Amino acid sequence: MSEAPDSSCGLVAGVAAEESAPAASPHWPQPLIEGFLRFRDNHFPSDDIEYSRLFAEGQKPKFLIVGCCDSRVDPAIIFNCAPGELFVLRNVANIVPPNEARIGHHGTTAALEYGVCNLGVEHIVVLGHQHCGGIQTLLQTGGQSNPDSFIDDWMSLVESARVSVERDYADAGIETRRQACEQRAILVSLENLLTFPWIAKRVAEKTLTIHGWYFDVEQGQLLGYHTATCRFEPL
Ligand SMILES: [Zn+2]
Repeated sequence: MSEAPDSSCGLVAGVAAEESAPAASPHWPQPLIEGFLRFRDNHFPSDDIEYSRLFAEGQKPKFLIVGCCDSRVDPAIIFNCAPGELFVLRNVANIVPPNEARIGHHGTTAALEYGVCNLGVEHIVVLGHQHCGGIQTLLQTGGQSNPDSFIDDWMSLVESARVSVERDYADAGIETRRQACEQRAILVSLENLLTFPWIAKRVAEKTLTIHGWYFDVEQGQLLGYHTATCRFEPL
């Protein structure tokens, strides 16, 4: 077993090591450590050959998933995939921002670029889901976002979805409007994907396909957006 390289304490600005801290911190979340030990004992041995191959050859996933941070919608669990099969990026409400030069850092775009240009994935799936907290926040703010909220600023990327839902479902209840907004936000992200030339080029050349899918958490159903019917339908 290899040992971790020496990592000196206090290298991160403002984070100083507590001199009196014990070697095994009691503040570590034990359920995670216990889960890792179960993984190491029960799953890692059976997947050892695959992990060894992935270590030697590197990852070559065919599928890039844009998922939500929501704890109920882990793509690897939903799609029952093995290590190395999925390249996953997750953010609040599974949003793909448009291609635009803005001040700041672009984590989602950087992950997209790496998956498409470096790994050569063949499919991108924008995976939305039922009862999305990000979409719920968007509907609640009603376009009056708090300038101090990172969430509000992020969710403004799919403001057009909210506006269209409020227009088309003005008399509907919150469940219907939320689901409609969750699904229309997926379509906004699909449009935004094509604003990146390295994605649009591959889609035109048919070496890359993009999909809008929706996971119904309550029913355990997966829906896909069909361009022929302009509807989300069971897969
Ligand atoms: Zn969500």
